This record gives sequence, structure tokens and C-alpha cells, in this order.
Amino acid sequence: MRFLPALTALSLTTLGFVAASPPAFAAAAVKEPTATGYGGAVATVDADATAIGLDVLRRGGNAVDAAVATAAALGVTEPFSAGIGGGGFFVYFDARTGRVSTIDGRETAPASATDRYFIDPADGLAYDFTEARVSGLSAGTPGTLATWEEALDRWGTRSLASSLQPAARLADRGFTVDATFRQQVADNAAAFGQFTSSRELYLPGGAPPAVGSVQRNPDLADTYRLIARKGTGVFYRGAVAGDIVDTIQHPPVAADPWSTWAYPIRPGVLTRADLAGYRLRFPAPTRSDYRGLTVYGMSAPSSGGVAVGEALNIIEAGLPTSATTTDKLHHYLEATALAFADRNRYVGAYTEPSVLQKLISDPWAGQRACLIDRTKALVKPVAPGDLNGSGCATTATGRPVEEGQSTTNLTVADRWGNVVEYTFTIEATGGNTMVVPGRGFVLNNELTDFNFAPTQGDAPDPNLPGPGKRPRSSMSPTIVLKDGKPFLALGSPGGATIITTVTQLLLNRLDLGMTLPEAMAAPRASQRNSAGIQAEAAFRLRYGPALTPLGHTFGADAPELGAATAIEFTRGGRLIASSEPVRRGGGAAGVVHPAR
Ligand code: GLU
Repeated sequence: MRFLPALTALSLTTLGFVAASPPAFAAAAVKEPTATGYGGAVATVDADATAIGLDVLRRGGNAVDAAVATAAALGVTEPFSAGIGGGGFFVYFDARTGRVSTIDGRETAPASATDRYFIDPADGLAYDFTEARVSGLSAGTPGTLATWEEALDRWGTRSLASSLQPAARLADRGFTVDATFRQQVADNAAAFGQFTSSRELYLPGGAPPAVGSVQRNPDLADTYRLIARKGTGVFYRGAVAGDIVDTIQHPPVAADPWSTWAYPIRPGVLTRADLAGYRLRFPAPTRSDYRGLTVYGMSAPSSGGVAVGEALNIIEAGLPTSATTTDKLHHYLEATALAFADRNRYVGAYTEPSVLQKLISDPWAGQRACLIDRTKALVKPVAPGDLNGSGCATTATGRPVEEGQSTTNLTVADRWGNVVEYTFTIEATGGNTMVVPGRGFVLNNELTDFNFAPTQGDAPDPNLPGPGKRPRSSMSPTIVLKDGKPFLALGSPGGATIITTVTQLLLNRLDLGMTLPEAMAAPRASQRNSAGIQAEAAFRLRYGPALTPLGHTFGADAPELGAATAIEFTRGGRLIASSEPVRRGGGAAGVVHPAR
């Protein structure tokens, strides 16, 4: 009964006992990172959300029904990572047709945006990241709610109205604050303190909520119920749309801010017409082969599918058959550096499909892998490949591009073999830090995923802002098929490190002989084409002694990389649902019928 702890947490919360429980007990009891069994599975970062998804599966809902109910619950318990104020990418394997489809629910820039959107007209310089983030300018039109509705319409069996109910109840009743949640508020306290709505919800009494206390959000419960009654029109064209635009154009700055803020809080320019004009996209998934498996990922405006696919192809093309663990990690680090050089140069919302196709082709991988020397690391940053060249041809080096770390990921499978891999976000942890007054959700700062100024020297930058444009993402919801059937579904948050985390998880599982839970727990490293590898200390300590003699260098340790979830499909319908044992406070995996 491995899923029981999650249910226990839920019922304790329901009964109102959790606030009185010792916090250590509440935090320790609720999460089970691995679950094995049959009949469907859910893996998320949060016990309440996983319990809600499992409940939908038990009552006969399919993977899409469960994914939407789970996502709505994550909007309650992970409000600084995801929610209806943001966007994301939904990847779906349909067991009946054997097809993988995607929904691009990425946020969009206002119609009035130009490539100088993040340039201060006063001095012609790009805004600082924090100045841009905590402003109305950073919020794009959210795509999350439209994604949920469309996924249910296309593949689900339940209405959006019913799918929002468990999360509305959760928001009313509240959930237990854990150390991760408290820390996320603490990290954002200075910004939240600027806004009446944000501080009222998240800084009760002027301080972050205590670990073990119950966090309720009646405004969000009401918003979910309003949407359930009136449909998504109320969000995109009705009363909620009005409140979103008002928040963006007139940020609810407190007359008596609780802390100093170094920047002016700039209003944004998003309009009701921008919200009313929001449209989902349905790009074909990226597709590449690795070790006889077929890897499906998210296409532009995410760079995730292309970059993961390219990195895997390079590893496959370059790795000698006699490879040692050090060879494998060396190739992993070189492959992701090369893939990032190409992604930064070529991938943005409007990249031609033929270019994306080329970047995940085997000939391209051969052209890139031929730069790798088994005995010596490339000097970073490496140059992008030349799309018109051959051999090892490269072009002028671009500047590495960095992005923040937040977001959440969920993986769901049902008894019929349908699979959902869904990564969604409000960008930075805490988004643009503005709660929409009276509505209980935080707005995204996704537009800061655009490059504020050109990064590629004389070459065009594919990720500058533009009217109605979607910023490039790194989100990499991935579904791997073996002989046309699901083998593995996985994804992670973590900004640009998502691409390396997903690639490394696949390397761990497919090349380094690890089980899925071992692959999940293993220490991570991220080489995104800069001089120093960003790694967890455990990776540097374990593998650094073998990798540094090859010329790899490590930058400052990362406290943790990613917060992944995954499901592996094994023989006889047996599922291994897996989430983080430790990162982000540990995740929650559950199955409908646990294996004995
Ligand atoms: N905004 C990021 C992206 O789309 C994701 C945020 C994160 O995971 O930190 O790539």
C-alpha cells in the first residue's frame, strides 16, 4: 500500500488535524518517492496532488482526466511553480491510436511587443532580470487553463468543471506548509511585500507561514468554481480577464511596502484583446531514435525536444562501444554543450520546421560528434554548428544564455495505457510575484525567457521578443516508446537545466545500468556550454576526479538540479512511478493497485 501515506496526508488535512501535528511528522509521513504496481500511476512533487490524481484514476477517469485534476491541485499546493496564471507543454500518448500529440500552452507576448520590449527607453539598456521580472511587463497571456480544457475535450472523459472541483476543495480546506513552501515564500518575501494581494495571501502577519501550519486559498477556490460554472471565457474574456489586465497595467503596489525594493515597479501593456486572442498550438512532437527506442518531445517554442534529441543523438554517434562510465559522462557533458550552442543560435518560436528537423537528424549528430575527443574536453563555449556546412563545420561562437529555475512536472498513466507528460510553469519561483487581487493566483513572468538583447553576435537571435510571440522554453516533457508502446515518460522543472536533467536521466537509465529510482536519485550535472559545469556537490565529488583530468571544470555547486517525475512501463503492465527522493523536499508517486 505504498500510496497510503499520500491518502493519509489528505485525510488528515481534511479533518483539520495537520496543524496540530508535529511538523516533522507531517512532512515525513506524506511522501513516497517510488510506487510499483498496476492499473495506473501518478507522479508529482506533491502528496495532495498525487492523491487527487489517483482518486480520479480509481473512479474510472483516464490519464488526461487525472492529469488535469492533478495539475489543478498543483496550482493550489505549488502556487509559486505553476497554476492558471502561467503556461506549459502537454504531451500525450494515446493508447488506441498509438500516436503522440502535444499541446503548446505557452504564454504569449502582447500584440504591442517589439524586439526592444525589455530595453529601458530612458537609457537604451536592457532591464536587470529582477527589474523585468517583478513588473507587469514580464507576464504573458497565460495558456494553462486553455490547455486543460482542450486536453479534456480532445482526449478526456470528464468536464473541466468536474476536474476543478477536488482542487477547489483543497484550496478551501488548505494544505500543510512544508519547509520547501516556507522557503519559497521567504525567498520572495521582499517582492511579495510590495503588493497588497501577495502579502495578504502569503505573508500573514508579516512573515512567511510556519512549517506545519495550514495554508488556505479561498479566493483560488472561488476562481476555480467560477470557471467551473461559467467556462474558460470568464478567464480569457470576462471578469477574471479584467482583473488580470488590471493587475498587469496597474500593479497592486502597497502604499506602505514592507521592505525596500531596488527598482521601479513597471506596469505592463498586456490588454484584454491579448487575452481574448489567446490560441493554443498543436505542433507535431519532436522525434528521434536512441538505442532502438523512439523519443518524443516538445517542439518549438520549447527547445526541449530538439535539444534533448540532439544531445542523445550526439552521445549515440560519438560513444565508443567499449565506453566506461567516465566516457559516458564525458560524452554526455560534451553533447549537451554542443546541443546548447545550436539551440541558442537556431531555436526560437519561429524556427523553420526544417531547421528543427535538421538539428535532430543523425547526419547533424555525426557532424557535431566528430568534434568530441575521447581524451580531452572541448573548450567552452563551443561554437554552433554550420547549417550549411559539412564535416565538423562550425560558425561564430554565440554567448551562452541563462534562465531561472522553477516550474513543476507531472506524469500520469492509466489502466488503458494512455500517458500524459506535462510540464507547466509560471517561470521563476513566485512568477512575477503579483497575486491577482481577489483571484488567488500568481501571474507568470514567462516573457523574461526572451533574450532581452541579441546574444548571437552578428547572427540573428531567434529568441528576441516580438508581437504575440512565445518565449523559447527549455521544458522537455518526454515520452519514450519501445516498439510503439510506452517505455518511459519523464520530465522536470529547472529552467535550462531541464534539458540536461532529462538527458541525464535517460543516460542513467539506458546507458549506466541504473533502475529508474536509482536514475532519479543519482547526483546531477548540467553542462550548458559554459566554462564551468553546474553540478550537485555529490556529482562533483564522485565523478570530478575522473572528469577534471580530461579538462572538464566545475563552477559553483548547485544545491539541487531539477525535481523530476517519471513512470516506467515494464512487463505485464507493471508500472514504476518515480519522483524525487530528496530534491524539492521529495516528491510523491502512487499507483492504483500497488504490487505486493
Ligand atoms: N521558464 C522556463 C522554461 O520555459 C521554465 C522555468 C523553470 O523550470 O525554471 O524553460
